[in-house]
Amino acid sequence: MDSVEKYLAEILAAIRPLQSRELALAEVLGSVLDGDVTAEWPLPAFDNSAMDGYALRAVDIKGATPDSPVSLPVCGEIPAGDTTRHAVEPGTCARIMTGAPMPDGADTVVQVELTDGGIDTVAIREAVEAGISVRLTGSDAKPGDLLLPSGTRIGAVHLGLLAAAGRASVRARPRPHVAVISTGDELVEPGTALIPGQIWESNGKMLAAAAREAGCEARRLPIVPDDNEAVLAAVQSALADADLLITSGGVSMGGEHDVVKAALTSLGTVTFRKVAMQPGMPQGFGVVGPDHTPIFTLPGNPVSAYVSFCLFVLPALDALQASKPERRAPSPARLTRPVQSPPAKRSFLRGILDRQVGAAAGQITQVTTQVTQVTPVTGQASHQLASLARANALVIVPEEVTSLEAGEIVDVLELP
Ligand code: AMP
Ligand code: MG
Repeated sequence: MDSVEKYLAEILAAIRPLQSRELALAEVLGSVLDGDVTAEWPLPAFDNSAMDGYALRAVDIKGATPDSPVSLPVCGEIPAGDTTRHAVEPGTCARIMTGAPMPDGADTVVQVELTDGGIDTVAIREAVEAGISVRLTGSDAKPGDLLLPSGTRIGAVHLGLLAAAGRASVRARPRPHVAVISTGDELVEPGTALIPGQIWESNGKMLAAAAREAGCEARRLPIVPDDNEAVLAAVQSALADADLLITSGGVSMGGEHDVVKAALTSLGTVTFRKVAMQPGMPQGFGVVGPDHTPIFTLPGNPVSAYVSFCLFVLPALDALQASKPERRAPSPARLTRPVQSPPAKRSFLRGILDRQVGAAAGQITQVTTQVTQVTPVTGQASHQLASLARANALVIVPEEVTSLEAGEIVDVLELP
């Protein structure tokens, strides 16, 4: 049996990152930058007002107080978007809106709340210093400043920054396209009546959704019966637009019933093995098609399929975008119940991680004594999707450990 690490290393060694290309902003969410993005223009590009108020010279309102306000004539109004050049003569002011360009001659803005809001003349009740409420050119970024380093996974704020910096497109590795194929003669679509012996198909929907949650485009193919030719045909059709393929079912020890194993073994580029883990021992991985598209053949039991997805497919998806998987490192937690684990296999038990422990409302806790607790759920068999749905984490029990007592510290992997 292969260790989890050996198997994962083999997978990652086989993944070639997707080609980066120039992506329009509309398609850039979830992509990973290939190359630094630097500012071409200053942000903001011109001095502008941070407030609705009056642009003027600070010296002209020295000594203004609520009891002795300073009155100034208002020489004009500058709304945001006004592109004409304005000037303020000494002893006068201009009404100005947030985001409007500062007029020549003015060095500060008095917010409207400190005035009587006058239209022709304004009474100013408070002196302000020069530079107040003025957003200076380049105060957010200067030309040449690094805005986003290469390798950034573009989220909403990054996308906003690209737009604010005037970029209509950017060079990045796109979100991977994932195709999911479920195999099994027993599978029928939810919404149709079952006859005994059949089950509603769930893995395909779950895995496609998991891929979407991980930031991919995902497509689910129609259910494939347990038939070699049908499996190969489905893989062939999935190849058309997929960067990564996932199958579920048909890879265990059932001989000719395990059609995914039989069909893909015939290609010679996909290998099947046992990985020393529970759930998810039978695994297959390889490449298919002219572009050597990676394919994962996950076991059919829903919990096994999902755990395998988290452990092996998620890092592969990161690798497709040449991005580091920093978000999936295990962390320690204290077990609240004893657990059992088979020898020579790493167990990934479903558990509920309680992040609130030691942080009761109003209570001052010492961070050093605060250990998160994890409670293994009842129902650890690999078909028990309902118990997986109650869990938010996987408790990792090492290969050489067969039992752990309540109170022991374990490594825990938070589920996405
Ligand atoms: P297999 O890996 O094909 O031997 O399947 C193992 C178990 O997982 C069997 O109980 C299957 O009925 C179940 N199973 C396989 N594929 C799916 C699926 N797409 N959705 C739900 N259960 C499945
Ligand atoms: Mg099957």
